[in-house]
Amino acid sequence: MPDERAAALAALAVEIEACRACPLGSQRTQSVPGEGSPHAELLLVGEAPGAHEDAAGRPFVGAAGKLLDLLLNLIGLQRPQVYVLNVVKCRPPENRDPEPTEIAACSGFLERQLALLQPVIIAPLGRHALRAFAPEGETRQTPVGTTLFPLYHPAAALHNGALRPTLERDMGALSRALPAARSAWRVARGGAGEASLSEIEAAAERDQLRLFESEAQ
Ligand code: SF4
Repeated sequence: MPDERAAALAALAVEIEACRACPLGSQRTQSVPGEGSPHAELLLVGEAPGAHEDAAGRPFVGAAGKLLDLLLNLIGLQRPQVYVLNVVKCRPPENRDPEPTEIAACSGFLERQLALLQPVIIAPLGRHALRAFAPEGETRQTPVGTTLFPLYHPAAALHNGALRPTLERDMGALSRALPAARSAWRVARGGAGEASLSEIEAAAERDQLRLFESEAQ
């Protein structure tokens, strides 16, 4: 039986590769739409691709990616069991932070990915990624029933080794939080389990997953 969600994510990746909605699209080598299990419970979100990711077209493939793999291994997970993506899909030149206008231009892709993936836990990696979900002084909605569990960016532990035990501890806490998050996710969906694609699209239209609404205000 074909996996509708995988097919929809793949179609979205084709759209992302063709996108030139902001200046980053004409400056990057290739887009980095994200990858992993379409049915992952855990979604890890970085800010934007770096040089290694831009060259490979895949998220978190450099030293930070290797550390991310080790952290996942600590809680018994391999990369193909989770989903990893970035808020912005194209690399900003010289690894600068993406501009608010670039984040806004790319936000529709993130919204559609979230609506398709329906993760149990979203773990933004670092404060820049967290800002896409929980800007200062505001509470933005995550997809229905999803728990937000912010983590340090693995690169922070590469720059400052003292942070590594904290990241390891936080990853353990995330693992322990998963059963309760899973229950909350199921209750929020009326115990119905995974929705069909048409139900997801209808819910996305209804709720609009207003993650970036305040950016436009
Ligand atoms: Fe399009 Fe996003 Fe790339 Fe900008 S960063 S060109 S909005 S895919």
